[in-house]
Amino acid sequence: MSTSFYPILTFEDGKLSPSMGYLFKRQWLDPCESVVSILWKFAQMNRLPGHMVVAHVAKRQIDPYEGFAATAAELDIRLTAGSLGLTQKTIRFAMQGPLLRRGWCSQLRFCPRCMSRGYHSVVHQFGSVPYCPVHGCCLETKCRSCGAVSEYFIKASVLDAPFRCPNCRRNYGNKSASFVHRIPWLPRDRAAIFRTFIG
Ligand SMILES: [Zn+2]
Ligand SMILES: [Zn+2]
Repeated sequence: MSTSFYPILTFEDGKLSPSMGYLFKRQWLDPCESVVSILWKFAQMNRLPGHMVVAHVAKRQIDPYEGFAATAAELDIRLTAGSLGLTQKTIRFAMQGPLLRRGWCSQLRFCPRCMSRGYHSVVHQFGSVPYCPVHGCCLETKCRSCGAVSEYFIKASVLDAPFRCPNCRRNYGNKSASFVHRIPWLPRDRAAIFRTFIG
């Protein structure tokens, strides 16, 4: 029988309070990864319920089932970066910034091939970008299984379905997201993402 190790967490006042630390590796991330994608990995690898993660990273007290937009006004950047062992810059770049309002899409917009990899990019949310810069496929908003559209929001139902549709729970990609053992991007793929990010 196989067993898995997960850190033991205690919960106080709706905030996460790790007694043994969180499991998170920056190697799991790719360039320009969205904050929703980052929090999906955090929730999944630590087996944390979405509502706890939402309450933890929110700047103020909110209803985690209503959630909030992934902006610096709403998300506690310092605490999120500290909890995940990432720089504040990484978290800031993972969000919609004041200079990145090029047709920002309020619905989750994704590339199915990136989702299979366990990657959702902040550039996928740019309304002015119709195709995935890496794979060239059309960015989509509707789940291929049930047709539902998801909000691009930090909320319990979204974080409870990492790389999956919050409505039917099917994968957005054509297989389960496998970000732990993924093949690194080629330099040209990284360059394509950065070029699109910079605009
Ligand atoms: Zn892609
Ligand atoms: Zn669905």
